[in-house]
Amino acid sequence: MLIIGLTGGIGSGKTTVSNLFKNLGVQIIDTDVIARELVDNDHSVLEEITDAFGKIILDDDGLLDRNILAKIIFSQEHKKQQLEKILHPKIRTKVEKAIKIYRAKPNQPQYIIVVIPLLFETNFHQLIDKTLVVIANEENKIKRIIQRDGRTPEDILSIIKSQVSDSKRISEADDIIENNSDIKELETKIQGLHDKFSNTTNTEE
Ligand code: ATP
Repeated sequence: MLIIGLTGGIGSGKTTVSNLFKNLGVQIIDTDVIARELVDNDHSVLEEITDAFGKIILDDDGLLDRNILAKIIFSQEHKKQQLEKILHPKIRTKVEKAIKIYRAKPNQPQYIIVVIPLLFETNFHQLIDKTLVVIANEENKIKRIIQRDGRTPEDILSIIKSQVSDSKRISEADDIIENNSDIKELETKIQGLHDKFSNTTNTEE
């Protein structure tokens, strides 16, 4: 079973791409979804984050206010690192468990995709066999995120600047998806990659 790590900058189209693979029947492990579930379902995790950041990150119902947390971590590097120190080992354990389950299946899939936005900033690359990078130009990323979440261009640019560059991602990629045109064209690219991954044998197993 081949494990493909899907990564890319903010708003490049990781979720859109992973949904297109999902539509083709591919199994997806999404570390963003795991992070959200950890905070929502495991009270001790939210407690740990609140101990580190203070009650300012909670809304009136005592739930995590993700917008406030995002503002803090994207304006203070050490806070971002503090949050990652809490979450990353827990996310990694969950990913490892999920991979083990797929490997144990009698009808093991030919390949699975693990969505890891911070692939190059973490040690998660140890878990994957191939790196799939999705890129889009800055203009498209900003336009699409404004449309999606109503963030300001300044906010988006500061997040882009805080992440590794696309040239670094490209230099580490086994495959690259350029996501600057419409969804129809993206679908064709995903179908091509699906055909390729479905016919690739993992020689390292
Ligand atoms: P984030 O880093 O914020 O998690 P992401 O990389 O997962 O974002 P998506 O959420 O997939 O990116 O895409 C960002 C927005 O752009 C979404 O609203 C999505 O519907 C839209 N989008 C993605 N690709 C295209 C495309 N080819 N054409 C038009 N809109 C697109």
